Amino acid sequence: MTTGVFHFEIPLEFCPILATIEVIMAAPEPNLMGEIVSFAKRRGFIYPGSEIYSGLAGTWDYGPLGALFKKSIKDAWWTDVVERREDMVGIDAAIMMNPRAWEASGHVEAFTDPLIECKICHQRFRADHEGEIKAHATTHPNKKASWTEPKKFNLLVPAFLGVIEGEKQQIYLRGEITNGAQVNFKNILDTTRVKIPFGIAQIGKAFRNEITPGNFTFRSREFEQMETQFYIRPDNKEADKWFSYWKQDRWDWYVRYGLNPRHLRWHEHRPQERAHYAQQAFDIEYHSPFGWAEFIGIHDRGDWDLKRHQEFSGQDVRYRDPESGDVFLPWDIETSAGVDRSLLFFLIEAYHQEDDRLVLKLHPRLAPYKVAVFPLLANKPPLVKQARDIFHQLQSHFMVAWDDRGNIGKRYYSQDEIGTPFCVTIDFDTLEGGKRPKGTVTVRERDSMKQTDVAIGELVDYLRERLA
Ligand code: ATP
Repeated sequence: MTTGVFHFEIPLEFCPILATIEVIMAAPEPNLMGEIVSFAKRRGFIYPGSEIYSGLAGTWDYGPLGALFKKSIKDAWWTDVVERREDMVGIDAAIMMNPRAWEASGHVEAFTDPLIECKICHQRFRADHEGEIKAHATTHPNKKASWTEPKKFNLLVPAFLGVIEGEKQQIYLRGEITNGAQVNFKNILDTTRVKIPFGIAQIGKAFRNEITPGNFTFRSREFEQMETQFYIRPDNKEADKWFSYWKQDRWDWYVRYGLNPRHLRWHEHRPQERAHYAQQAFDIEYHSPFGWAEFIGIHDRGDWDLKRHQEFSGQDVRYRDPESGDVFLPWDIETSAGVDRSLLFFLIEAYHQEDDRLVLKLHPRLAPYKVAVFPLLANKPPLVKQARDIFHQLQSHFMVAWDDRGNIGKRYYSQDEIGTPFCVTIDFDTLEGGKRPKGTVTVRERDSMKQTDVAIGELVDYLRERLA
């Protein structure tokens, strides 16, 4: 959690038991990470940002498959969190906000990381990232490492609006998407029929001037978040109830979509570690190739945001209970997940190198393509025509890939690599009957590699049932 307060972890060498546990549980696997990065580029998932200009540190571009994968994650999240709940509304607020909003939320003053500089080479690091500091010291083998005192470094990215030089207004690209929900709390009360407890959900870009971007997309300077702000009565029991509820709900969500619970753990923030707004904070961490790493935080923000926006804007944003008539500022239980970190960890978890194939065992809802359609031979027009008809039919239901290159084995291999759960092959039996009845296709399942005969008329239902 980014916080205004500096802190240092207890060095593991002073605690041998902890150090041993840490080594067993989180032994980093740099080779796997290298493999994933090059795989992601080779198959068009993720490219370095502005690559033909030698890149821009901390930025990444999602290619055709990455964009589909990311959209699938966001769609699954939105469906489950907004569309299938009665107590949640979704919004899409602007990235650029009146800078007063960032003063009110405390980000101008306290959205900081502790920065230190290597006195030998002047490279900068986060003072609370011990591993990186230790690793850097080894790059100067003949000199004793020496560091500047930690300085507060604000992560907000400034931007300038206006057309007249010298009169441009300084604003910030949003450092987290939360503020867009908080400043619209009153609008939502006035224009919808929500009743407490209810939540505001949002997905969108955030920007941070990270001191040391790295570990692929894990720490980027531009990234996306998916957040819920859940407003409750200002009461400790309510806060505990909903805090536990959202912790469990989010854990279950990630497990349902493929993260192995043995690769997950909770990290509770100590008071000095918490962000300026948080009264309680837990992260879910994933056992990644570069160690345990956070990808979602659950925070009890109390009435910090609404109180501050009320004070700074001069607007009354209190809630009036329709039954009791009580007027109060609700408390907010937040879940804040990174889309990019979620994608990265789903990708790592799904990546399986088997004896003779590489297979991405993604949950079907997250897979970029849900189905691939192949004509057995690309040079037989009746086969191609039938396959094209099926392809177009499926396209109105699912994201479908078409492949008529090489032989069937190669096509399976290629679809396994990108996580396509089902491949449909149209062959001569489809047209004329033979070993299989006429009008059937072969559906091959990615993980088991099992092949099933399915009638064309039943294909959509067959796939829909298995893709849910
Ligand atoms: P960290 O401690 O790793 O800097 P944080 O605690 O500051 O992260 P939050 O402010 O809680 O992160 O943001 C919520 C989520 O947004 C994080 O759990 C993460 O998934 C995502 N996120 C935050 N910073 C970044 C970043 N620089 N790059 C990618 N995702 C990020």
